[in-house]
Amino acid sequence: MEQVEHAAQTPLHTVVSDFKQRIGWYISVRWLFLASVALPNLILQFLLPSANIPVVRNLLITIAFVVYNLFFIWALRHIKHKRSLTQFAIFQIILDVVTALYLVFTNGGIESHAVMLLIIPILCSGVLWSKFIMHIVAGLVGISYSVLVTLMLYGIITGPISTEGYSRHDVTGFASTLMFIVSILQVIAFIGGFIINLLRHQSNEIKHARHKASELAGKQIQDAEADRVRTEALIDSIGEGLIVVNEYGNVTDLNIAAEHVLGYKKEEMLGKWWPEAVKALDVEGKIIGPIDRPLVKALETGKPVSRKLAYVSKKGEAIPVFQTAAPFLIGDKPAGGVIVFRDNSQEIKIEQAKDEFISIVSHQLRTPLTAIRLFTEMILQGQVGSLKPEQTDYLNKIEESTIRMIQLVGTILNVSRIEMGRLKVTSVPTSLVQLIDTWVAETKPLADEKKVKIVFRSPRTAIPEVNIDPSLIGEVIHNLLTNAIRYSPGEKGVIEIDLTKDQHGYLISVKDNGIGIPEHEKPKIFTRFYRAQNAVAAVGEGTGLGLYLVKMITKQAGGKVWFESKEGKGTTFYVRIPSSGMKSKAGDRSLASGGKL
Ligand code: ADP
Repeated sequence: MEQVEHAAQTPLHTVVSDFKQRIGWYISVRWLFLASVALPNLILQFLLPSANIPVVRNLLITIAFVVYNLFFIWALRHIKHKRSLTQFAIFQIILDVVTALYLVFTNGGIESHAVMLLIIPILCSGVLWSKFIMHIVAGLVGISYSVLVTLMLYGIITGPISTEGYSRHDVTGFASTLMFIVSILQVIAFIGGFIINLLRHQSNEIKHARHKASELAGKQIQDAEADRVRTEALIDSIGEGLIVVNEYGNVTDLNIAAEHVLGYKKEEMLGKWWPEAVKALDVEGKIIGPIDRPLVKALETGKPVSRKLAYVSKKGEAIPVFQTAAPFLIGDKPAGGVIVFRDNSQEIKIEQAKDEFISIVSHQLRTPLTAIRLFTEMILQGQVGSLKPEQTDYLNKIEESTIRMIQLVGTILNVSRIEMGRLKVTSVPTSLVQLIDTWVAETKPLADEKKVKIVFRSPRTAIPEVNIDPSLIGEVIHNLLTNAIRYSPGEKGVIEIDLTKDQHGYLISVKDNGIGIPEHEKPKIFTRFYRAQNAVAAVGEGTGLGLYLVKMITKQAGGKVWFESKEGKGTTFYVRIPSSGMKSKAGDRSLASGGKL
């Protein structure tokens, strides 16, 4: 029953191979039996030569048995179908029984030990089919054996060795021996059946467990595959480029967007070390060394690193991107990283077009504004007749506004020129002391107007000349000075300028005791068009472009600008220029005359 159930659930090929395996086992049992009968026989031959064991005959039987078993092995290999296998197994059982009976016949009938050979087909029928079949086989074998030995007893058939121990007249002795042997065959079938059942039960349980385990493993594999497909779909659906690396920085995955931007196929990238697989350039176009790559830094520090850079695509094009490299941890150990990047080329093109537009518009505005200023001045000078005081007053206001407009346009032009990289830098040896002096003198009228004092202490040690573009650095000093004046508290205002030189370069500081910069606005102060609330309240006019320009120029000079400030107390701006000075740079525009408003 159990077997039927199992067969119903198990695929046919498994049933066939199972049955085939059992027949194979049957064949091996025959080898075992052969060895356990033939070997003692041979040994006995040497130990007891007087026993008159028919060596040649036994040897021939053994050889015949080997051939017989080899034939079965060969035949088993070629049988494929379940039905043929069953027939093959039945054939073997019958052949084994007949062989055993023949040996019984040739070896003294009921007295022959060859009766033992009958045990093999009985047990094997149990293994091959069921306990029930085994009992039937045991019964049939018992009957055949009984008929054979009885016929021999009565001399109806005679074997080469006569049944010596029993006479036809001692029927009781013969019958009880026969009964004993037949019942032993049944007992063996019973014990064999019990053991087989037990083993089968265990093997079924093992099979069941194995089946369950393989089912579970299959499900896990399926789940993992589903997870993989889901993750892949997710990664590919992201519009931004995405690279996944292991803890060593070797690429383990990338999405379609990354393939598209970089021009590499996934297969080309997998396993490669990211900092070498795709080169990166900084904003100035210089190659970023592997150790300075954001990913390496992120893996080192365990913190995300965001940066603007350009990746060199497979075609060799520099593609500007904004990227973030972030490590991911398993427990507290870095297990890899993710790089997400956005192609900025389009935005940069739009930005450039915008800058170009501003530059053209500002340039076009300057000419009519200059003309207005010129003609206003001429009228004010009385070149077209004398003016009424009211007219003079209005014309002064027109001139003032025009000057302010010219300055604003100049500043915007300068910002756009420097942003577009079109500004020419002409570095010449310059005395910073003289340059500061010039700008102090230049801004003096404004300071006087506000009653602010400007103090420039001459440096204690001689300051050597430095290679700079005086118009650009002059613009920086001018902006810082005018800011200090504008945001100073009037009469009590004192502006101190300092110039020092150390191993880092030249340091200019401009200190005022004005309105200061509110703490929360400090981070935004160098941003384009940004003005702090207190500055807007104190001075209505202003563009928020001066400091941005200062920052751009100092950056161009390879220097740095920063400040210290306390709201209501004052501010100090610092500008550092490297000892090596500024590098000259070709460009089609020089600084437009702008200045502070
Ligand atoms: P603007 O002076 O035209 O507003 P800037 O770019 O020169 O633009 O300066 C940006 C902002 O920085 C100012 O609006 C002001 O809030 C702040 N700032 C600059 N210099 C000073 C200073 N010396 N004292 C206080 N605030 C300052």
